[in-house]
Amino acid sequence: IPGRIEAIVGPMFSGKSEELIRRLKRARIARQRVACYKPDIDLRYHRTSIASHSSQTHEATTVTNVEHLKAALFPQLDDIDVIGIDEAQFFDDAIIPLTVELVHLGKRIILAGLDTTFSAEPFGPIPDLMAIADEVTKLSAVCMVCGAPAIHTQRLGQSQELVLVGAAGLYEARCRTHFEPLLDEH
Ligand code: ADP
Repeated sequence: IPGRIEAIVGPMFSGKSEELIRRLKRARIARQRVACYKPDIDLRYHRTSIASHSSQTHEATTVTNVEHLKAALFPQLDDIDVIGIDEAQFFDDAIIPLTVELVHLGKRIILAGLDTTFSAEPFGPIPDLMAIADEVTKLSAVCMVCGAPAIHTQRLGQSQELVLVGAAGLYEARCRTHFEPLLDEH
C-alpha cells in the first residue's frame, strides 16, 4: 500500500488539533491502528493526550525530540497504520527524513502544526513538511478583533520567547489587517 503524508497547518485556534483528532478517530472507525505523538513542549491540558481548544482529546505519547519519537515508534511500527503528530513545528529538522522514511514504509502520517511564528515567519520544519506532503490543509481562525478569517498568531505582551505554548491569554488569532508583529528589540 502506498503511504501518504497529510499536513494540517494554520495559526493558533484554527482547529488543527480538532482536525487531527477527527482524522485519527475516523481512521480508528476504519479499523486502522493509530499512534499519536506530540513534543513535550506542549503543556496544554494533558501529557498523555492531545487536546483541542474545544476540548476534544485523543491519546498521545509525549516525546522530547525526534530521536525519542523514533525510539517510541519503531518497536511497534509493524502494528501501526496511521501516525499522528501534533505541534509538529516544535520538532527539529530530523522530522522531515523520518516522515519520508515512514511514508516509504506505507504509513499514513498526519502532521498538524503552526505554519508561521508570531513574527509571521515560516515555522521550523513545517514549510518542508508542506512541500513533501500529498495534501496540505491550511486552516484559518477567526480574527479576535474583527471576525474576519485569521491567518496570523498574535503574541500579546512583550516576550520574544519562541516556545510558549497553550498559555491562555497569551495569543490571539488575527487577520492581516489586525496583526501587529512584535518589534524586535535587538
Ligand atoms: P489549533 O490546534 O489550531 O490551535 P484547536 O483545534 O485547538 O486549534 O481549537 C479550535 C477551536 O478553538 C475552535 O473550534 C473554537 O472552539 C476555539 N476557538 C477559540 N478562539 C478561536 C478563534 N479566534 N478562532 C477560531 N476558533 C477559536
